[in-house]
Amino acid sequence: MLLVDGLQVVLIYTYYYYIWCILFSLVKFMKCPFCQFNDSEVLESRVSEDGNSIRRRRECPKCKKRFTTQEKVKDSVLWVIKKDGRRELFDKEKIKRGIVRALEKRPVGLNVVDEIVGDIESEMLREEKEEIPTTVIGKAVLRRLKKIDRVAWLRFASVYFEFEDLGDFEKILESKK
Ligand SMILES: [Zn+2]
Repeated sequence: MLLVDGLQVVLIYTYYYYIWCILFSLVKFMKCPFCQFNDSEVLESRVSEDGNSIRRRRECPKCKKRFTTQEKVKDSVLWVIKKDGRRELFDKEKIKRGIVRALEKRPVGLNVVDEIVGDIESEMLREEKEEIPTTVIGKAVLRRLKKIDRVAWLRFASVYFEFEDLGDFEKILESKK
């Protein structure tokens, strides 16, 4: 009985040891630029005035030299691939204009439009792709308009998918459900 308990303890310790090793291997340390030692201590962290970066004063525990690192939010450049294959930069204003046009004389406020546009922008950025087909954006707009205003949704769809007759339109409605 005692032997079994002992074995269990050893197994549990081995288990924790491996878990710890795995976790440790996932942690990456900031290397010292002077001696390449694989760790550094943060002495001080300071957020920049515009709030877009953090400066950290670090010290190498091995050679004791100090250095500064700067963390920045990666600039996100998003390209939109148009139907004819041309690329253009993701443009919030352009999307906004399209939605505003579709919502003309509809009882929906501009704040809702801004919300939709902001929402779509974050959805596209979440994809973490550098290029997004214009159709993906169009469908994202349509999904939201459908919930807010049916007339605007139809207007946007008709401009967006350039359908010419009712048959085309019905096909699109079927496929975009
Ligand atoms: Zn060092």
